[in-house]
Amino acid sequence: MSMETKKDPVEVLREEIMASPKLEEFFTDMVGMSLKQYMAGYVIDNTTDVEELVDELDLEDTRCCSECGSPMYEGYCIENGAEYYCSDECLHKHLTDEEYENLYDEGRGNSYWTSWVD
Ligand SMILES: [Zn+2]
Repeated sequence: MSMETKKDPVEVLREEIMASPKLEEFFTDMVGMSLKQYMAGYVIDNTTDVEELVDELDLEDTRCCSECGSPMYEGYCIENGAEYYCSDECLHKHLTDEEYENLYDEGRGNSYWTSWVD
C-alpha cells in the first residue's frame, strides 16, 4: 500500500460545497436570508469601527459620529466634515451653542445640520 495522504472527508465535502453552483440558493433557503443580508449582519455585528466601514465600503449616506462612534444618516457636519456629531449631546461635548452658532454663521458657514438620505 502506498503512503498516500488520506484526505479528510469533511474537507472534500467543503470543497465540493464551495464549488457547487447551487450553494447560494441552498444557503438562502437554509438561513432565511440572502448571502448579502447575512454578510451585512455579520459585518455590523463584528465591527466596532463604523468610520472604517464608511471608508472601506465607500458608503455615501452614512457618517460616523466623531464623539460616540454611532452610525448616522443625519446630524451635524462641522467645518466641511472635519467632525460629525449625531446629536446635540455629542455636539455639546466639543462646542458650546455659541461656538456652533459662530461656525454656522446663519447658514453661511461650513457647519450645519444636514441629512445624507433623501
Ligand atoms: Zn454621537
